[in-house]
Amino acid sequence: MANRKFHPEDTVVNVGGELVGGEHFTLIAGPCSVESEKQIIGIAKEVKASGARILRGGAFKPRTSPYSFQGLRESGLDLLFKAKEETGLPIVTEIMSVRHIDLFDKVDLIQIGARDMQNYELLKEVGKTKKPVLLKRGFANTIEEWLMSAEYIMSEGCKDVILCERGIRTFEPYTRNTLDLSAIPVLKELTHLPVVVDPSHASGLSRLVKPLSLASVGASADGLMIEVHNDPPHALCDGAQSIRPEQFDDIAKCVNVMLPICNKKRII
Ligand code: PEP
Ligand code: MN
Repeated sequence: MANRKFHPEDTVVNVGGELVGGEHFTLIAGPCSVESEKQIIGIAKEVKASGARILRGGAFKPRTSPYSFQGLRESGLDLLFKAKEETGLPIVTEIMSVRHIDLFDKVDLIQIGARDMQNYELLKEVGKTKKPVLLKRGFANTIEEWLMSAEYIMSEGCKDVILCERGIRTFEPYTRNTLDLSAIPVLKELTHLPVVVDPSHASGLSRLVKPLSLASVGASADGLMIEVHNDPPHALCDGAQSIRPEQFDDIAKCVNVMLPICNKKRII
């Protein structure tokens, strides 16, 4: 179902009215985690003004340590719904358990995180909702395994899967992960599904977000998902890789200049 051989045209996914894939380029932005009403609504307004079309924010957070901030959970989802009401931006947020499926009814794009890329029961249940899904690449997974996970979702009747390259684990510890840029044009050959890149988790370093964003656009990505925080040093999660709204604005402007030579419509 994900194979381009049987579906030559690019799939365009409708995420709450925003089109992802084909000639469209989509900026997704927001904090790693929803922290408060003021934080999520403030960031949502700023990234929207710069050209973001989908708001991200984690409510259920997959943290390495059980003692780290785990997200605001249900109340984090409520704050995302409020931010959507206030700004009109569709929302993307991560699901970690099949027990939470009903809570995600009003979520426009359900994120499956890197750690759950091969949680097949979760993939099947999320596929049954027929809602658009953002499927992140597992940090030790091949492109073929990733496409097979997309297949799990699609075989349940969900046609709207967006793939998200977020870096893989290599022998190089300088960056949090290593962005697999070549995966982007390879996926374009193998599948008709849209491919977005998350340069924030790929590098773990805020100063690398801009160069990796521009490289991803050049490598034919259909969009970027970027962590933006109003006060990165005090972020409850992933502050080191979070950029400030004005840095996001600069990236959006630079991306916009590249889009025509990448066969994409301008975003600003
Ligand atoms: C995230 O996007 O917040 C996240 C946890 O990403 P990943 O699953 O890629 O680590
Ligand atoms: Mn994060």
